[in-house]
Amino acid sequence: MPAASKNPSPSSSSGSAPRPDATPAYTYSPEAAQAWIQAHWHGGKACPLCAANHWSISPELLAIPMARQSVPLAAMTCLDCGYMMLFNAVVAGFVPAKDGTP
Ligand SMILES: [Zn+2]
Repeated sequence: MPAASKNPSPSSSSGSAPRPDATPAYTYSPEAAQAWIQAHWHGGKACPLCAANHWSISPELLAIPMARQSVPLAAMTCLDCGYMMLFNAVVAGFVPAKDGTP
């Protein structure tokens, strides 16, 4: 489990009020996304544009801004021509839904 930062004060002995969760709920990993895509991709895996089979999964999620929130996306890119496939990361289960909306 990679820890992005350390807490300088190991404990708060007096405060019992719940803190707002500052940790992003994004648990995305490109390895898990790649495994999910391979499990769900039936048929040929050639790029629909150039017919190559050299794909790369995005190391981080992308986000498409919507009116009220953004949609987290995992991108798979053809390394030969740049064609991209986008996967809704909430629908695919890469990250939990915010406010119950995928
Ligand atoms: Zn291509």
